[in-house]
Amino acid sequence: MAIVVTLNVGSSSVKFAAFDAARDGAALARGEADGFGSHARFTAGVGSSGASEQTPETEIKDHASAVQAAFRWLRKQTSGEEVVGVGHRIVHGGARHSQPVLIEHEVFAELTALNSLAPLHQPHNLAGVQAAKAFFPGTPQVACFDTAFHRAHPYVADVFAIPKSFYEQGVRRYGFHGLSYEYVTMALREIDPERAGGRVVIAHLGNGASMCAVKDGRSVASTMGFSALEGLPMGTRCGELDPGVVLYLMQERKMSAADVATLLYKQSGLLGLSGLSHDMRALEASESADARKAIDYFVYRARRELGAMAAILGGIDVVAFTGGIGENSAAIRERICEGMDWLGLVLDREANRAKRTTVSAQASAVQAYVVATDEERMIARQMRKVLARK
Ligand code: ADP
Repeated sequence: MAIVVTLNVGSSSVKFAAFDAARDGAALARGEADGFGSHARFTAGVGSSGASEQTPETEIKDHASAVQAAFRWLRKQTSGEEVVGVGHRIVHGGARHSQPVLIEHEVFAELTALNSLAPLHQPHNLAGVQAAKAFFPGTPQVACFDTAFHRAHPYVADVFAIPKSFYEQGVRRYGFHGLSYEYVTMALREIDPERAGGRVVIAHLGNGASMCAVKDGRSVASTMGFSALEGLPMGTRCGELDPGVVLYLMQERKMSAADVATLLYKQSGLLGLSGLSHDMRALEASESADARKAIDYFVYRARRELGAMAAILGGIDVVAFTGGIGENSAAIRERICEGMDWLGLVLDREANRAKRTTVSAQASAVQAYVVATDEERMIARQMRKVLARK
């Protein structure tokens, strides 16, 4: 069998999978490595419900060793299969890429030039490409972009009101989580074909969190912007912030740019507010008042953005929750949707707590769904298209 391999090198984890190269379907094998430098973990299994395998922690020290461990594991599991392509989640495709592409020499150089726009992700993504080229020599490498799904935004959704030359030079809102949004958009077509082509808001709530307004199957607005800092508060990222705060930190508090970056990317969000954890499960389980306030703020911002998306779309037909929090926390879904009957959105509490796919009440004009995202499967789908064109 010919297979395609997917690689998703994030800021703090490496996810990988193998799929049938000929047809869409669940992964043949998949896994994840994370906790580099402290409690490294490597979990992988064959088939959608295959047994998990753990590798000794000592083998995984950083992204590079995690990628090597992933490739070795995949090769062992799929020996005899021909790897006909490796697909990479690339966080930034700049203003140009609205489609996945084969990573040829010039494309790689172009993507490297975007490193400064996504310093915590892009260099790791591209190191993954180089590692894959060395491990699977001669195999086509395909870039699948998190920004691509948002490239049809109207100008007003992407511009900042600073002199327009900056927009022309690439200082604009790109939006991220595009692979997840595209996957969920396609899944909604199966769940609710009639409404999926209408006015849809997708809330991707995980360690990274954002919302996307989708109309006629295309993204028209996203809460994430120039960087993956904007919009909703996240595990360790601040979400929306008055740029005056950054000026104050640098000018008055004499923080360096690097210190501000560490503060906003790694010490803020749920972690910064709670002083306890970046992890929603830990906060939900905590008795601490600060943990509760951190969750309150997360919910407050999500409700605010949901209202903003509804205004942009002129009403909502479907709300879909995805990501670790969106898929698993009934309490957060309930709180985000509470008192949203003015919008036509009413949850069915029991269905929501039972984690059904449909969580809206019968009388709700807006249909609410819980959809498990699968960025790896989306990468595999995009790769098949690129390889077929080749
Ligand atoms: P990433 O953005 O790294 O892919 P995930 O989508 O896996 O992250 O989401 C991780 C988040 O999901 C964490 O905050 C975690 O606590 C939260 N989460 C996972 N399961 C649950 C659960 N059962 N209840 C509440 N939160 C959960």
